[in-house]
Amino acid sequence: MASPAITQPASTTPTLPASGQVVFVGAGPGDAELLTLKALRVLQTANVVIHDRLVSADVLALAKSDAQLINVGKQGFGPSTAQSDIHALIVKHARAGARVARLKGGDVTLFARLDEEIEALEAANLPWTIVPGITAASSAVANIGQSLTKRGRNGAVRLMTGHDTKGFADHDWQTLARPGEVAAIYMGVKAARFIQGRLLMHGADGETPVTIVENASRADERIIATTLAALPTDLAERCSGGPALTFLGLAPRAATRIQKSTEFHAQELA
Ligand code: SAH
Repeated sequence: MASPAITQPASTTPTLPASGQVVFVGAGPGDAELLTLKALRVLQTANVVIHDRLVSADVLALAKSDAQLINVGKQGFGPSTAQSDIHALIVKHARAGARVARLKGGDVTLFARLDEEIEALEAANLPWTIVPGITAASSAVANIGQSLTKRGRNGAVRLMTGHDTKGFADHDWQTLARPGEVAAIYMGVKAARFIQGRLLMHGADGETPVTIVENASRADERIIATTLAALPTDLAERCSGGPALTFLGLAPRAATRIQKSTEFHAQELA
């Protein structure tokens, strides 16, 4: 004879809190169309979106309408939420069972303190995933019609920061000063004079092309073509204080046929 099935009344089923989930999401450089489909899906399902200052309003507008949006970004060198407070915030919401999107400008794996936040989650035994994004350099270089590497010119490219925890960041200036080198310098505006000085000191040609792309992929994008010799002056005179990427060794392609991606889009809709 078959033994009766043992069923548990619903009321005695243990009610474990649904474990929250954290997704580190690259928001891209600003243009919402540069989000990945995966990033969009996470944004449309997250209950809590913890974002940096560089995440554009257009991207934030894609979050679920009842999602809680929390800005932890800083303005230039101004006050920001302490990194430890950001960790506590992410952990708190994930522990409470929320689906948390930790949204960072560009790609999350570049200059974004990702490892520290992962370690905080690991310490709290919480699950996490990474959704990569388009980094500022990829977007900016596309809008000057150049490529980051080119056969016969440079077989390597550096993505480097102008700043580190100790101040202006030190790099291999000797190598960077060589003709044909290409570097995408993040957070390089305030360090421009320092970078220029180091490169010239190591023998770089003052006529080396340098291009600054400010607000890449946004409606107010600005491209400033200059040289190593004129870099600090041109920055001071022509940059308006938005996020800017400095390309060492690249000039905008001399072509009138590069269309801004925003213009291209507008044309398609027309
Ligand atoms: N994780 C980001 C970088 C964060 S560091 C990424 O992958 O793009 C912040 C720096 O990124 C800024 O100081 C600036 O140098 C660069 N940056 C970010 N967004 C930018 C944009 N839309 N246009 C130009 N530079 C940008």
